[in-house]
Amino acid sequence: MQTIDTFNFAGKKAFIRVDFNVPLDENFKITDDTRIRAAVPTLKKILKDGGSAIIGSHLGRPKGPTGKYSLKHILPRVSELLGVEVHFADDCIGEETEAKAAALRPGEALLLENLRFYAEEEGKPRLPESASEEETAAAKKAVKESQKEFTKKLASYADVYVNDAFGTAHRAHASTALIADYFDAGNKMFGYLMQNEVNAVEKVMSDTERPFTAIMGGSKVSTKIDLIKNLLDKVDNLILAGGMTYTFAKASGGKIGDSIVENDKLDLANEIVELAKEKGVNLVLATDAKLADSFSNDAKTDFGSVKEIPDGWEGLDIGPETEKAFAEVIKNSKTILWNGPVGVFEFDNFDKGSRAVADAVVEATKKGAFSLIGGGDSVACINKFGLADAVSYVSTGGGALLEMIEGKVLPGIKAIRGY
Ligand code: AMP
Repeated sequence: MQTIDTFNFAGKKAFIRVDFNVPLDENFKITDDTRIRAAVPTLKKILKDGGSAIIGSHLGRPKGPTGKYSLKHILPRVSELLGVEVHFADDCIGEETEAKAAALRPGEALLLENLRFYAEEEGKPRLPESASEEETAAAKKAVKESQKEFTKKLASYADVYVNDAFGTAHRAHASTALIADYFDAGNKMFGYLMQNEVNAVEKVMSDTERPFTAIMGGSKVSTKIDLIKNLLDKVDNLILAGGMTYTFAKASGGKIGDSIVENDKLDLANEIVELAKEKGVNLVLATDAKLADSFSNDAKTDFGSVKEIPDGWEGLDIGPETEKAFAEVIKNSKTILWNGPVGVFEFDNFDKGSRAVADAVVEATKKGAFSLIGGGDSVACINKFGLADAVSYVSTGGGALLEMIEGKVLPGIKAIRGY
């Protein structure tokens, strides 16, 4: 497989798919530029080699061209971070864009307008809800056809394709996967970010040093079930916490008061407990909780067993006994995967459990464990505690990371390396 590190981009035009889908405030100011910064090493390497960078990304979920989701809003920040004046193309395809791409000199960069202004990027028709089944079927067929032309056009600007958009690697879109077919094996590669993400997940899931502990938090079992099932085949310890604690507690006959629960998942919870036993996995559930008399940071609080919660009270964080038990398992691990806070960490009065988990992960990492944190709120959580630099890897991918952990082959990865 071709690698960005060894490839010389001198005199080449590269199409780089990045994930610049950053949050903007109402004045279109970037509120968190992490995703842009994450792609900088790749872009700088290309420019430094004397290559030209044609940068493609999506922003938000536009239904067509709209100023709200224009990548023009982020152009100044991209220029600033790259240290060069980046050109802009008002449209990601079209004659003018083609001319701008062709005119790029070595060391120059061109940012294309939002790829998702075209339905062809995702290959999904944009129809009114009133569309009939036949209309929908015809539109689906039409967009798949026009997607080929769109993809070919994007590919035609460049000699080389680089995918550095891990955040969208689970999507088989024009610029994230299909475009790779237009480049031979020597001329397509992962960017540094993508490579690092893939390496980190594979280190955890395939090249695992034991004991391997996964910590799954968050609010619901239902959204994590595929993850949990795949992890049961891989881990030594599985810590299940957060809101799903109460579905397990109720399933085993506990009284959970007003805690969050999925009543239709009680059998599933018992099934997971049995599966863990069968597979010899040490399933670690919370035993005590920090209780609140309402879902609020200012609620009255108390501590108690997760199975004896009075009505009018709900568990919003793990209690001290659980903190200790979790920390003990985590500190003795050599590989750690953490997805999802163990309590309502957004409330300062209920973030202590997640903080204790973060501290234990940091301690294990110091002792040589490999720790990967990722998926939605876990990143916000580790950032809140200022500990992102003290763990081995913090993933930028939400859905993409979770699908990889579920054991799925991601289209964006397969398109480049074949599996
Ligand atoms: P998820 O998106 O499934 O990873 O869920 C993350 C959310 O779960 C966070 O916003 C937490 O506040 C929430 N959460 C964690 N523990 C609890 C709990 N005990 N009760 C309600 N929500 C929780």
